[in-house]
Amino acid sequence: MGAVFGPFFTDGDVQEEVHLAVEEVLDLGVSADIWTGPATVQSTMHLNRSGRGILISGSFSGGVALVCSRCLEAFPFRSQDHFEVYCEAAAQGQLEEEHELTNDELDVTYLEQGRINTDTLLRENILLSLPVQPLCHEDCRGYCPRCGANLNQSVCNCTEAHVDPRLQALRKLL
Ligand SMILES: [Zn+2]
Ligand SMILES: [Zn+2]
Repeated sequence: MGAVFGPFFTDGDVQEEVHLAVEEVLDLGVSADIWTGPATVQSTMHLNRSGRGILISGSFSGGVALVCSRCLEAFPFRSQDHFEVYCEAAAQGQLEEEHELTNDELDVTYLEQGRINTDTLLRENILLSLPVQPLCHEDCRGYCPRCGANLNQSVCNCTEAHVDPRLQALRKLL
């Protein structure tokens, strides 16, 4: 499934420009401990005929719950960005064929039957815009490795929580 539009600028189609506005709830795929749940995305895209293909310039704003890399709590994150993609209709069998991509081909997104899947496009761009190590706050205090308390919400009594366990083992020997 996906939101698929088109085909655009087919033979005999006289229009030169198309505007798309989409609002979707996007499944971002299996979470890599970085996000939880789907993203809610609004996007506008302008499609222009460009040579043999289509140039898509778009912008999006997406809301997604990220998992803080320090305290492991989910927090709301908003990403906004612009993107530009050049697409061409794939030749017969080109998408299935396995062959070494040439440099020229790497910069091209190939469309199946001239149709644009906005889900795929937006998912890629949202994933690219997410921080690698999300933080709920710049100064997130993380969690206590001993009792698991979220140190942003409470102070635990594990005064030695931050001592490396290997050091503690050593200390017993002394
Ligand atoms: Zn945090
Ligand atoms: Zn603790």
